[in-house]
Amino acid sequence: MMQSLTKIFRQSLQIDSLDHDMFAQDTHLHRFKFLILGGVSILLLFSAIAASIAAEDYYIIPAFVLAAALIGGSWGYYKKHPAGNFLTPMLITGIIIMLSGCYLFFTSKTDLGVYWFLLYPVIMIFSLGLFYGSLLFAFSYVLLIIIFSTPLQASVYFHPASPAYFLTAIFAAFIFSWSMEYISGRAHLSLLKAFNLKEEEARTDSLTGLGNRRDLQNHLNWLQAQSVRSGHTFAINIVDIDFFKRVNDKYGHDMGDLVLRHVAAILVGQVRSADRVFRWGGEEFAILMPATGTIEALIIAERLRQAVQDLPYRDVDGNLIRLTISVGIYSASVNKLGSQSVHEQIKQADMNLYKAKQLGRNRVYG
Ligand code: GH3
Ligand code: MG
Ligand code: MG
Repeated sequence: MMQSLTKIFRQSLQIDSLDHDMFAQDTHLHRFKFLILGGVSILLLFSAIAASIAAEDYYIIPAFVLAAALIGGSWGYYKKHPAGNFLTPMLITGIIIMLSGCYLFFTSKTDLGVYWFLLYPVIMIFSLGLFYGSLLFAFSYVLLIIIFSTPLQASVYFHPASPAYFLTAIFAAFIFSWSMEYISGRAHLSLLKAFNLKEEEARTDSLTGLGNRRDLQNHLNWLQAQSVRSGHTFAINIVDIDFFKRVNDKYGHDMGDLVLRHVAAILVGQVRSADRVFRWGGEEFAILMPATGTIEALIIAERLRQAVQDLPYRDVDGNLIRLTISVGIYSASVNKLGSQSVHEQIKQADMNLYKAKQLGRNRVYG
């Protein structure tokens, strides 16, 4: 019984799914916090209704029922719009907790009504975060000090010697929860930074700074899905430097690296802003061109070929290293969109590249 209850609870919150999407992860966290805060507030509202019945304050009951509806409504709203503003429903709930807490505080005929306030800073910081949590806490703390230091004290059932202890304990609870939230917030942030850095590293080629093969495959999958939806065709150009092995053999591997960066820069400079250049392999690059047909892809490939031919690499001694490239083109025809796998598309471009090489290099084929 208990197990299945926890299962439902976990599933409804999706707290088991460690999402790679950090935004979705935050949404799960917010939902979790909201449920905790909502639960606490409903509990409090029940106590407040019980207290009002005991005190025969029937007129206030509709206000508590309305407050419960407001919390339910904002929870429903947040569930439907998880990307929306999370703070508003949390603030509504936080203020309702504070008000129903105040009611208990003033109507309780024992000092038990006061002890509830010990939880208040913890709940506020946990659910509203450092800034808004501290703000609401400061507000209620000042309120308590005013009550305890003025004739208002007579309206609260409280042992005259207790206020100082009580205020200190509440403050300690505040400092504790503030520190915990601060520490976990910092840890969350540094994890997020490390995650972003690693993710960027994982899709970047360190030599050229271009996206790597993995990044290309992700982009291509995305482009493919996008094209199927929009009905726009797209194209892939695969670029291979001709006789690159000779550069390495003649000038050394380090110079080869510099030449690769040089060619990468030319390609990036020549493509249109919507096109993206990736390092596909050793001395091979791939260019993804959204909304591009065969003719346009050919024109761009020819432009790249010309640019590489016209811009030889100049080494530190002023020697010119002349380079040429061959380009293989794949262009998705509109009626075939979605019918070819990403693997097949690349293979097609690769085959055309092979033909360009066979035909004598320094040319485009597609
Ligand atoms: P082709 O015209 O047929 O393409 O001839 P090629 O010499 O360019 O082709 P081949 O595949 O025989 O050689 C590619 C060379 O690219 C071999 C490899 O050492 C070199 N290479 C691959 N990656 C790197 C790299 O990161 N840095 C350097 N300097 N060289 C690399
Ligand atoms: Mg090659
Ligand atoms: Mg080559």
